[in-house]
Amino acid sequence: MIRTTLFPGRYIQGAGALGRLGEELARRGKRHLVVASPHPLEHLLPTVAPQLDQAGTVHLERFGRECTDAEIERLLAVAREFGAETVTAVGGGKTLDTAKAVAVRAGIPVAVVPTLASTDAPCSCICVVYTPDGVFERADILPRNPDLVLVDTAVIAKAPARFLVSGMGDALATWFEADSCRVSRAPNIAGDAGSMTAHALARLCYETVRDWGLLARSACEARVVTPALERVVEANTLLSGLGFESGGLGAAHSIHNGLTVLPGVHGLWHGEKVAFGVLASLFLTDRPAALIDEVYALCAALGLPTTFAALGIDGVSEADLARVGEKACAPEESIHNEPVEVSPALVAASLAAADAEGRRRARA
Ligand SMILES: [Zn+2]
Repeated sequence: MIRTTLFPGRYIQGAGALGRLGEELARRGKRHLVVASPHPLEHLLPTVAPQLDQAGTVHLERFGRECTDAEIERLLAVAREFGAETVTAVGGGKTLDTAKAVAVRAGIPVAVVPTLASTDAPCSCICVVYTPDGVFERADILPRNPDLVLVDTAVIAKAPARFLVSGMGDALATWFEADSCRVSRAPNIAGDAGSMTAHALARLCYETVRDWGLLARSACEARVVTPALERVVEANTLLSGLGFESGGLGAAHSIHNGLTVLPGVHGLWHGEKVAFGVLASLFLTDRPAALIDEVYALCAALGLPTTFAALGIDGVSEADLARVGEKACAPEESIHNEPVEVSPALVAASLAAADAEGRRRARA
C-alpha cells in the first residue's frame, strides 16, 4: 500500500507575522505580485509596505471578488506582463484559491496570507472555481501546495468570532472523516492511503478544538491573541488542512453538500453546515454515546447548529430530507469512504436523529 502526505512548503503563524512577509518573499524572488481583497488592500497592506518594498518590486492588484476562470486568466496576464517571480494572496478563501491557480500556471511560487481562520483551505492544493454568478463549478486539484502559508493571529483576532467558530466546525470534521478513511482504507486527496502522520495530526486537530475552542472564541470576542487562540487558529488552518487533505474526507462533507439543496441553509457558512454534518455522521457511523455527548456539548457551547431550527430548516419535510440524502450519496461523494452501509434513507434518518437529539438537549 502506498501512503502519500501533502504539505505546504512553510507555515508561519503568530501575532505580527505579517511583518515577516517581505523577508519571506525576498527569499523567493525580486518581483512580487500581491493580490488582495479590498479590505486588506486598504487597511492591512499599507502597514507592511516598508517591509514589502525591501523585498523588491511589488505590484499590488485588487482581487475581483470571485474565483472564476476569467479572474485566473486576468491575474495570469497581469503576472506575465509584470514579470512576477512570486505571487501572494491576502484575504479570504477565494482570493487564496485564485492565487494558487495563477502560480501553478505561471510556474512561480505562491504565498497565501489568510485574514480569517474560517476554513481549512489555505494549506491545501485544492482550488474551488465558481461561475461569474458565484455558483460552484468545480474543485481543481493543483499539482502542488502553497509554498508559504503565513497567518497573522492579530489579524484573525480582529475578525468577527463567527469566522473562527465556523473554522472550528470545519476542523471538527477532520478527525471523524480521516478516521473513517483509515478504517475503510479509503483514498485521500492524492488518491493514496493516509499516513500515520496525517491521522495523528487529525486527532490533535479534534482534541485542540475540543479543549481550547471556547477559550479561543472568548479571546476572539475580546479581539486579543492568547495561547488558546493561537492553538485553535493552528488547528483550523494547519492541522485541519493537513488532516483532511492527507487523511481523506467522509460523511460530514457529503452531508454538507447534501444540505445545500435546501435554500434555508444558504445563510450559514461552510463550517457551520459541516458541523451539523458531523452530528448526523455520528449516528450514521454508530459512534459511542459518550463521544456523541462530547461533540454535542462542544457544538452547543461554541454556538454551532445542533438543530434544524438553528440550520434555518425548521419543519423540513421528509421529502426534502430525502433529497438531501440523494445528493449526499451521489457517486462522487466522499460519504462512500465511510466503513458502514450508506444510503439516502440512512442519511435522512441520521439527520432527523441529529435534530431530535439537539432539541432534546436544548430542553434538558
Ligand atoms: Zn471543509
